[in-house]
Amino acid sequence: GAPTEVNLATEGLSKAFGGVRAVDGATVRFHHGKVNALIGPNGSGKTTFFNCVTGMIQPDAGSVSYRGTDITRKAPHRIARTGIGRSFQLCRIFPRMTVLENMLVAVRPGSLGRQLRSSRDRDDIERARSLLSRVGIDHLERAEARDLSYGQQKLLELAGVLMADPETIMLDEPAGGVNPALIDRIASLVRSLNAEGKTFIVVEHNMDLVMSLSDHVVVFDRGRQICEGPPSVVQNDPRVLEAYLGV
Ligand code: ADP
Repeated sequence: GAPTEVNLATEGLSKAFGGVRAVDGATVRFHHGKVNALIGPNGSGKTTFFNCVTGMIQPDAGSVSYRGTDITRKAPHRIARTGIGRSFQLCRIFPRMTVLENMLVAVRPGSLGRQLRSSRDRDDIERARSLLSRVGIDHLERAEARDLSYGQQKLLELAGVLMADPETIMLDEPAGGVNPALIDRIASLVRSLNAEGKTFIVVEHNMDLVMSLSDHVVVFDRGRQICEGPPSVVQNDPRVLEAYLGV
């Protein structure tokens, strides 16, 4: 087939907490334009890897590049500006703000508590409403975020990530704690956004979802990649079974 275009890549990425080598020489390539999954047992370093890549924590060693540009140790907002958006395992939204306010703050922190009357504000509000409608929670725009179900909060977080129109979207456990109906909605959103050209890198424990959604799977164990490939191949790899079963 055609050569794979590289989206995000790391070389020898490492991060230790005290004596714990959370990420330990991870060399990984994610495929541009695809839905990539990052899986691995609990504690294998997936979240730490996400945090190093997005600038939330500084790696001890190694490098990160995005579309060929070095982004190692860049500040989170600069990494975001290169086109990478992310969600968090424990959904990051402002519970006492309304759904619509959360959308505006997601893209412009300075809009908090200010009158919104400029044409740019109106454009943002229009964009926010259309994204809320796309994720299916536009009827809740005036509700406080804390009054949404957990799954609806995750949809709000995803819609907030989309406000910046990122080229690549990193999701940390999008289906975790979400009911099956909303998991289906999140899956179909990922599919349709991918069809529009967005690359996804998804950490997820729900294996049925990983296998049905992703084009490319990277498996982590003890802080590094032990296996990669299409879902059908990874699923049957003895190294993956070994990592999960600890045999
Ligand atoms: P995963 O996301 O795959 O479950 P994590 O990246 O959360 O893995 O954790 C990898 C390892 O690093 C675990 O042993 C975890 O306990 C440890 N770890 C993660 N974050 C910290 C931290 N802030 N301080 C100390 N240890 C941490």
